Amino acid sequence: MLGPPGAGKGTQATQIARARGIPKISTGDILREAEHNRTEIGRRASAIMARGELVSDDIMIGIVRERLDQKDVGNGFILDGFPRTVTQAAALDEIVKGRDPLVVVEIVVPETELVQRLSVRMVCETCGETAHGAAAKVADCQRCGGRLVQRSDDNDAVVLERLKVYHRQTQPLVEYYQTRPTFRSVNGSQAPDRVAADLMAAIESAASGVAAKGPRP
Ligand code: ADP
Repeated sequence: MLGPPGAGKGTQATQIARARGIPKISTGDILREAEHNRTEIGRRASAIMARGELVSDDIMIGIVRERLDQKDVGNGFILDGFPRTVTQAAALDEIVKGRDPLVVVEIVVPETELVQRLSVRMVCETCGETAHGAAAKVADCQRCGGRLVQRSDDNDAVVLERLKVYHRQTQPLVEYYQTRPTFRSVNGSQAPDRVAADLMAAIESAASGVAAKGPRP
């Protein structure tokens, strides 16, 4: 799943993963958990995330390679936050070689809307659920009752840096993928349910194109 910070990747990825019964792999969540558990990677990633920069390709590729080696990804998986550079995309192609082709969906949202969304979103300290709109204006998480806080990298200065990094390092991935028959773009500035419906349809059509071709030799 491709898209700038604030496009709704995390929210949508969670829904799709639940609907299809496959795991969601969010590299942002993995890093924040490592940070929380004070592992070596967590310690190294912490300062980088706080500045809105990217953790090194080597570390990220290692994390994803290991995760995609686990049994629960046999029926598919959703990647949220990876790849974020062309180097990561090339590594991912290599990691999934021999599987069905990747379905790549881009969520498109205008920049002014992204800045606005990130400045008001909250996350649950306990379960990591993201809260938007009315749910972000109350003190407690609707899912688990935990305390809602602003994500430390959602302050204005870091948001602008993350958007800059996105344009410089991640946007080129659209060019990397867009000539593939399994690439789709979806309008992310609609109500979340609308975006979800468009995404499901996009994934369905991209994946059926794959199935229609039949088994690969
Ligand atoms: P966003 O809301 O910006 O999409 P994420 O939760 O996906 O944020 O990621 C938070 C931070 O974790 C990023 O700003 C970056 O520092 C780091 N990170 C996550 N995934 C990657 C990746 N694939 N490559 C490099 N850094 C990453």
